Amino acid sequence: RQAQYRRLRNKPSVTRDGVEMALQLNAGLLVDLPAVSESGASGVGLFRTELQFMVASSFPRMSEQKSYYEQVLEAAGGRPVTFRTLDIGGDKVLPYLRAIQEENPAMGWRAIRFGLDRPGILRTQIRALLHAAAGRELKIMFPMVSEVSEFHAAKDVVKRELAHLRRHNHPTPERLQLGVMIEVPSLLYQLDELFMAVDFVSVGSNDLFQFFNAVDRGNTRVAARFDPMSTAFLRALRTIAERARAHGTPVTLCGEIAGRPLEAMALAAIGYRGLSMSASALGPVKAMVRALDVGRLSARLLPRLDQESGLSDPRAFLRSFAEDN
Ligand code: PEP
Ligand code: MG
Repeated sequence: RQAQYRRLRNKPSVTRDGVEMALQLNAGLLVDLPAVSESGASGVGLFRTELQFMVASSFPRMSEQKSYYEQVLEAAGGRPVTFRTLDIGGDKVLPYLRAIQEENPAMGWRAIRFGLDRPGILRTQIRALLHAAAGRELKIMFPMVSEVSEFHAAKDVVKRELAHLRRHNHPTPERLQLGVMIEVPSLLYQLDELFMAVDFVSVGSNDLFQFFNAVDRGNTRVAARFDPMSTAFLRALRTIAERARAHGTPVTLCGEIAGRPLEAMALAAIGYRGLSMSASALGPVKAMVRALDVGRLSARLLPRLDQESGLSDPRAFLRSFAEDN
């Protein structure tokens, strides 16, 4: 199997009916980097910057962050890298940051909320990213955004840092793109405003599903009870993909389901053309893509999702399609 997947590395990620699926890598540590070139990924769709902070014993300085990001960009060898700003809080704890007691940390003072309230930390990270990507393309995305205004506030921080760099005659990125992770359901009702504001989005289906179904992603007792391949969640994901396309806003999905062949197959059928996943998932997902007739699956799945009654068991439907095709 492994050898078989390795042989796929340089093969195009295109379905049998000619639809291109961009498969990217999720990464966060320097040890992940060789995989960027070895896996045949078209880029890094999610770089979890908090991992550098989580393995450190104190806050990494601006120069340390900058050199880390430079190494990431170097390893990516010109492929696009999407850096997510610090997503701490919730399940991601920094040992050296005074622990805040919260009843519901996943819904607490985390990610962009923390970033906007502690602008010094966000500013330092943005500055490090802008320095590291001097002369190159830079993509930054913000986690746990629940209102479009938070994106505008974060964008202002970036603009101020960019102006600071220019004032001091520092080289700046050649191209800068700012995006948002869709992982809070409230964004589903602000899609037009969102797509008009951002350069791209990435669906963080782990958190989106957690909040969509009110099911703690780390609690095995309840997590196994709900399947992301449900009519309701597939409808939500489809809405995002379709509205993004209507606005011409690039959309990818970077949660765990992107790395599971059956789920990835469903995502392709509901309109996703970019998926980001762990290195070990790339081979199996690419093998699925190359065997898939996505037009055929869409033609069968979408009308069923449109039915008032939905699909009682989408997973069984997908499995039977995969077996028959
Ligand atoms: C997600 O929430 O789907 C995601 C990709 O981010 P993380 O798993 O790091 O929260
Ligand atoms: Mg998340």
